[in-house]
Amino acid sequence: MLAKNNRGESWLEALKFIGHCPICNHRYEENRAKLFAKQDAANLVHITCGKCSSNFIAMIVIMGQGLSSVGMVTDLNFNDAKQLYKTAPLTVDEIISGYQFIQKNY
Ligand SMILES: [Zn+2]
Repeated sequence: MLAKNNRGESWLEALKFIGHCPICNHRYEENRAKLFAKQDAANLVHITCGKCSSNFIAMIVIMGQGLSSVGMVTDLNFNDAKQLYKTAPLTVDEIISGYQFIQKNY
């Protein structure tokens, strides 16, 4: 019952496991982390380091008594992450066009 009551904010608990900024090793503060997307058990969280201001995106999945997280350093701020999350992924054709554009112009 307790886990259910806390479910909405349980991704905040996961921050204790993510712990430190991978750039400067400063401990993450809860108030620097914001949820920007949620689907079923998966939470996408954006964190800005309070010391070096680098940005980090983590996907935190909470299942029963356990949790799993995967993250990456990014140059996206919170609003960028929130907007880009909704855009469609690149297609193979777009990637080939981008490659050809660069080859032709440089
Ligand atoms: Zn840092």
